[in-house]
Amino acid sequence: MNEAVLDIAVMAGDGIGPEVMEAALDVLEAAERRIGGFRLVFTLLEAGAEAYRRTGVAMSEEVFARAAAADAILFGAMGLPEVRLPDGREIAPQLDLRERLGLFAGVRPVRLLPGVPSPLADPRARDVDLVILREQTEGLFAERGRGPTSPDRAEDKLVVTRAASERLFDVAFALARERKARGGKGRVDLVDKANVLGSMAFFRSIFLERAQRYPDVEVGCRYVDATALDLVRRPWEFDVLVTENLIGDILSDLAAALVGGMGFAPTADLGTDKGLFQPAHGSAPDIAGRGVANPTATILSAAMMLDWLGRRRGLEACTVAARRIETAVERAYASGRIRPVELGGTSGTRAIAQVVVDALDELG
Ligand code: ATP
Repeated sequence: MNEAVLDIAVMAGDGIGPEVMEAALDVLEAAERRIGGFRLVFTLLEAGAEAYRRTGVAMSEEVFARAAAADAILFGAMGLPEVRLPDGREIAPQLDLRERLGLFAGVRPVRLLPGVPSPLADPRARDVDLVILREQTEGLFAERGRGPTSPDRAEDKLVVTRAASERLFDVAFALARERKARGGKGRVDLVDKANVLGSMAFFRSIFLERAQRYPDVEVGCRYVDATALDLVRRPWEFDVLVTENLIGDILSDLAAALVGGMGFAPTADLGTDKGLFQPAHGSAPDIAGRGVANPTATILSAAMMLDWLGRRRGLEACTVAARRIETAVERAYASGRIRPVELGGTSGTRAIAQVVVDALDELG
């Protein structure tokens, strides 16, 4: 059989990054063995705060070039609070990768897995199934790192451009369409602060203009403060939420709490032809090195990577493997065999990976 060989750049990074990455690679290898039809070749690349501490460079040009050339990038977490640049900022090669590879769309699905308790008492909270789509190349992160403009003043500029907004909204509408075809609501809500900020009023006008091209998708515009309230009060009503960089950053952590915590929140950072897949969480130095990090977000990010590769390359086997990993994760949780430390249980990182691998085996 003709087997597709896929070049995957693996950037495990700092803190719990290497721990959750090892778990995800175990699951990917198990899926590859079980399903066949594709082969993943992993190249481990060093970057992040530890790399900076050791070499004085957070991500070398050589590492960047290798990652950029890969078919996809699988990313753990980078940055440590005690390792800082001379101006006091944390090491964050993930932001450089987003900018330099044009990974403008942060796709963050939020779904409660069967068997995972919801923090909300309302039984409808079990039906939470939404996606936060975060703009990742401009917004309030556009000029990060400029530092104070005088000894008494610091500023950050919020940048919204027509081109970046249009391509983001196109992804949002396409996503809603695709979800509708699978039984979803087919709705996109823009989240902004257009009542106060001119940049966001502009963002909103582009959204409404672009929406005209997608008459089959329902649209809404919402303010971020009210959305924070409703994400806790009635999150099951949302479908696709599209928003600016910093708002997306904050709301995705809020949304992760609705489905069990940071260990359950996967991400795909997508550009026009590049994809980086990572858990939404950071390096979690408070729990690093103890083997207790929940690798579920990284495993689900790996499944998103296979799904993306499958679509882009027309590789049915990758698409099948993606679905199979998602189903294995669902079954593993539904069976009660996983109780992550994050939720007060005792299942550590390796144990969770093993249960998912076993569930994959059971699926045949
Ligand atoms: P960043 O700014 O880089 O996103 P952060 O400082 O917001 O990172 P995280 O590293 O995401 O913080 O951690 C936030 C909290 O969630 C911490 O208490 C951490 O222990 C917890 N956490 C994060 N990831 C996991 C995980 N995979 N399993 C269990 N707990 C996690």
